[in-house]
This record gives sequence, C-alpha cells and structure tokens, in this order.
Amino acid sequence: MYVDTHCHLNEIDLEAEIGRIRAAGLKRMLTVGYDLESSRRAVELAEQYEDVYAAVGLQPTELEGCEERDLVEIERLASSKKCVCIGEIGMDYHYPETDKEKQKKFFLLQAELAHALKLPVSIHSRDDAADMFETVRRNRQKFEYGAVMHCYSHSAELAKEFVKLGMYLAFGGTVTYKNAKKTVESAQIVPIDRILTETDTPYLTPVPHRGERNSPAYIPLVAAKLAAVRGEEEQALTAQIYENARTLFQW
Ligand SMILES: [Zn+2]
Repeated sequence: MYVDTHCHLNEIDLEAEIGRIRAAGLKRMLTVGYDLESSRRAVELAEQYEDVYAAVGLQPTELEGCEERDLVEIERLASSKKCVCIGEIGMDYHYPETDKEKQKKFFLLQAELAHALKLPVSIHSRDDAADMFETVRRNRQKFEYGAVMHCYSHSAELAKEFVKLGMYLAFGGTVTYKNAKKTVESAQIVPIDRILTETDTPYLTPVPHRGERNSPAYIPLVAAKLAAVRGEEEQALTAQIYENARTLFQW
C-alpha cells in the first residue's frame, strides 16, 4: 500500500509504465504541475487513470513570462474533481539572479487561491529556509487546508518548526543518498502522522538506481529506507503514510 505524493507523470510514458508501477504496490499517485502546460497534462492524466490525482500550479523557477492572469487558468484546472492540491508552488533561491519578489508574490497568490478553493498546497522550497519559514508562519491562515514541504531539504531543527505550523514533510530518493545526513536526521524526527513518501519522478532516483530515470515504482525503496532510519516496522509506517496522504488530499 504505497503512495507517491509528488511525481511528474507527464515526463514519463505512463501508458507503458503503469503496469510496473501498480505491480510495485502503488495505490495513489499525485502528479504535479509546474507550469500551465504540465498542469493541464496533470489533470488529463488524473482524469484518465483512477489511481492518479492532480496538483496544478506555477513553480518558482518557471515564472518567466508568467502573469497574474495565468492563475485564472490554474483555477479553472483546479475545478476538476481529480485535482486535489495546488502545487508545486513556493520559492527557490538556488540561482542568484532569481526574481525573489516575483517568486514570493506568486507563492502567496497561489496559496490564497488554494485557501479559497479549500485545497492543500505542495511546496517547493530550495536554498530559502529562513525566508520560507517566515513566509509560511506569517501567512499561516492561507495554509489552513494543509501543506506539504515536498522533498524536504532543510535542517532537522527547522523540520520541527514546520511540523509545529501544521505541515507535512515529504521525503524521496535523496534520503537514500550517502551524503544525505541532514535529510536523514529530518526524516528521523518527523512525527509519524506528518510524514509522506514521494519520488519527484523523473528526478532524484533512489539508490541503487541512481543515474537512471526515476519512477513511482521505486517508492518501496524510499519507504524501506525511511523505516530503517526511523527504526519502525515498514508495513506499519507505509500504512500510516497512506493514511496521512488520505487526510491531506481527501482522496
Ligand atoms: Zn517536483
């Protein structure tokens, strides 16, 4: 009973791969948009496959050329019965020349939209730890319908603070990497009712397949690693993670 709470199924040949994914025990997948085109495709895939659900949104590194009126289309897409989340949205300060003001503006506008639609959000957050925490803390009410920090990459101390704000933290292939000390520490301290699994397919493939394209079929590798570092029984952990995803996405 596995769940992938963040993947980009528009980037793989899902028709060819769905059999292998289901055989691996995947019961639910959230395919996540990052621009208008991928958001449209996310909804199409979700309407086509019963075990696939959609998130729609504009990702912070994909904002070039985006205008506020694009959010009308995001809202229209979100009206699909299979759309259960707004995302991925957030901030990413990895590249120094990035327009931080525009990122924050679109992050908060989309968080507001999610709130108006009573939907949770999937948050992309890279190299922006302090600013992201402050932004979420100050705008807490916008995240009332739930939020997940996708591919959590900040410190374990901050993980505790995000949990206090009511957020879920999702872990993927990076937790299996040798240099993943910080991620492992975070995965160890998240309460069992706030942890989620994801792959971020086609990126961040877990060991031992690192270097290949990722797939939701590799979720069991992520779950096994999480259970090992947390000292929990894998079946109990995955059952709880399945419940956590159901609570957050109401699917
Ligand atoms: Zn992603």
